[in-house]
Amino acid sequence: MHNTSATNDGQETRLLLENVDDDVEEQVKNGAESSQRGWERPALVSFTALGLLLLGGFFYLSNQPNASGEGPRGDYLWNGTHEFKRTVILVSIDGLRADYLDRGLTPHLLDISKQGIRAEYMKPVFPTLTFPNHWSLMTGLYPESHGIVANSFWDPASNSMFMYNHPEASLNASWWFGEPMWETAEQAGLKTANLMWPGPPVTSSGFSPTYHVPWRDKVPLEEKLDQIFKWVDMDVEGRPELIVAYEPSLDQAGHAHGPMSKEVNETLRSVDKFAHSLHHEVLARNLSDIADVIFVSDHGMADTRVTEWILVDDESMLGSYGDEEPTWDVVTHADGWPNMGLRFRAGTDQRAVLSKLMRAAKDPRYIGKFDVFNVAIPMPERYHFSASERIAPVWIVPRLGYALTTKESGEGGPSHGDHGYDNDEPAMRAIFVAHGPFSTGAKGIASREGKLNGWHSTATDEHIVQGFQNVEVYNLVMRLLGVDDVAPTNGTAGFWDAYLEA
Ligand SMILES: [Zn+2]
Repeated sequence: MHNTSATNDGQETRLLLENVDDDVEEQVKNGAESSQRGWERPALVSFTALGLLLLGGFFYLSNQPNASGEGPRGDYLWNGTHEFKRTVILVSIDGLRADYLDRGLTPHLLDISKQGIRAEYMKPVFPTLTFPNHWSLMTGLYPESHGIVANSFWDPASNSMFMYNHPEASLNASWWFGEPMWETAEQAGLKTANLMWPGPPVTSSGFSPTYHVPWRDKVPLEEKLDQIFKWVDMDVEGRPELIVAYEPSLDQAGHAHGPMSKEVNETLRSVDKFAHSLHHEVLARNLSDIADVIFVSDHGMADTRVTEWILVDDESMLGSYGDEEPTWDVVTHADGWPNMGLRFRAGTDQRAVLSKLMRAAKDPRYIGKFDVFNVAIPMPERYHFSASERIAPVWIVPRLGYALTTKESGEGGPSHGDHGYDNDEPAMRAIFVAHGPFSTGAKGIASREGKLNGWHSTATDEHIVQGFQNVEVYNLVMRLLGVDDVAPTNGTAGFWDAYLEA
């Protein structure tokens, strides 16, 4: 997440990494053994099932009850020992920039993508910040529709400030519009689990995930892995069919040390091992035809070590000329770091403010460094960032390489990496990697129909699909879970038809 990283000193990060590495390494080394423990959980194993295994009834998703009365009923699926319902495990690795996967440091994520499917990138919503994007992933809506327009912003309707790092206030359901996928699934009678995914524990319509582990910082990856598989190993009647989980360590390393740092590379290795352990545990339970595992991220990370700072209260921007009152003094709220959404004292002539900003934007010293938007100069359409009273009337959006500040706030701080910029910037791109029945079906359709447009092979067996927007993910998960009664979203109608059997 955002500012937590700023206070993260290097030593703490290294300690965390050491712990994570050891723990996950241990998991990888003992993979066979730990999966064996999974099989041997007394509540989960029956002798009939073991007999079936020996008879070779290993991989089949038969819908037919067997003669002994054990095995799958009705629409239930069968992994060889237990009944399952179709399951989706959606994991967000905060700040995993799309091209991090090309560093040679993520062999496991690449291996999962070769067995499954990978998007060239996933496009975040603007602003490319953690809370807006995680809520877009959950709801399929742009921030102007789901209401979380930045990590911190002023809401004129309630006369109060949303601050992501004040959970007692910000997790109140009234802030969060739209219907998260776990609510839609719950409404359809499915059980869901939420492991620290940013968002409210209960929506304004009163729905909660069946299981919810609230946000805590510095939780070891092995603890998260254990929690996910405690859920997977539940009895079928209590087991969640949708599990969403969140991991922030890579974003924290990116902010504190920058995207090119060795700390980011070390954390990248640790989240890659976590991905491997998770995938391994799914395969060990023979769930690759039952459970879709989808790894996503919310946004990328830009290197801000050489950022040029722009003082918005400089006299060339909104400062004062001579004895005149500085225009900056009429600003009551500045939302949305590293962008600035400006609100003003009642009675302020906003046209005058805007003309000052426009004059500055055309000044040779600022050309190409930031853009200014308001009602008269609308945001680019692709931002989908205007139709909400929570969006301030005037926005200054810096381009990559530049950041906004004031004389009082000063420059710098410990951040060496940041995000929040234009969602078309390659450095802001996120990832999408999936393995399970979805990827098997999608690859089958593509090869059967000879529809290789939009697909290309970078290795013998790796398929990479074209980049797409994260507002499509809600509809994918609902289709994978067989939930038809879905909420309206900003996703594209029929987007997944090319990937999924009708
Ligand atoms: Zn983030």
